[in-house]
Amino acid sequence: MPFRAILFDIGDTLWHSQNAPPPATFRRLAGERVEAELRKLGIEGADAGLIAQTAWGSLEQAMKRARATDLVEPDYADVCRDALLRHGLKLTREQAGALLDATYVSGVEGGKAVYPDAVTTLEALRARGFRLGIVTNRAFGGTRFRDDLRDAGLDIGWDAEAVSVEAGFLKPHPALFEAALCALDVAAGEALMVGNSLLEDIAGAQAVGMKAAWRRSPPDADGVTPDYTFDEVGELLALPALTRSAG
Ligand SMILES: [Mg+2]
Repeated sequence: MPFRAILFDIGDTLWHSQNAPPPATFRRLAGERVEAELRKLGIEGADAGLIAQTAWGSLEQAMKRARATDLVEPDYADVCRDALLRHGLKLTREQAGALLDATYVSGVEGGKAVYPDAVTTLEALRARGFRLGIVTNRAFGGTRFRDDLRDAGLDIGWDAEAVSVEAGFLKPHPALFEAALCALDVAAGEALMVGNSLLEDIAGAQAVGMKAAWRRSPPDADGVTPDYTFDEVGELLALPALTRSAG
């Protein structure tokens, strides 16, 4: 079946951490923002650095657990509230969510850089008639993610955006791929998934009946065979299967 749509992973496929500051800078930024948020919430006498670290740690731990088990996105505000309660801070779910959100360090601050050929490749694929979508695992969706996309120059007017924290499932759960296919109104066999993770992108897409192109990276799974393999995104333009869209 000819392809009509192409779905992209983002991290290490279209952008990467090129000039990431040291962890201490992330901690400082998160601490400062949590401190401001605590003031806004009228919470006094709390250790902002410890709260930032606890909030962020709870998110990472919950995501790790989800990745190792059912691939259902945790309710991070809930997780954060419970973790802070163990430190003696009694908050509502909304307050905990606001503190967690305050720990976010943007793509620009985190040194995220788009690969040089990413945008031109996406534009060329679109000019060939392909519908383009995102399938990404992100703990922060909404404007956090869209602002990062815009700052990176990747706000190309995607035809579908399947973001794990918004859809409720993490790749390689079939539901995240199916959400994108549904939004694009294409069958699995009409879409190509492009990503750098054998486990999340390649095996995940193949499990729902899609073909998958792997951006060669340190392998994170055994026994997964991509349908296509490339090193630079621009190489996609030379794939005979992507010469033009079936419309
Ligand atoms: Mg990736």
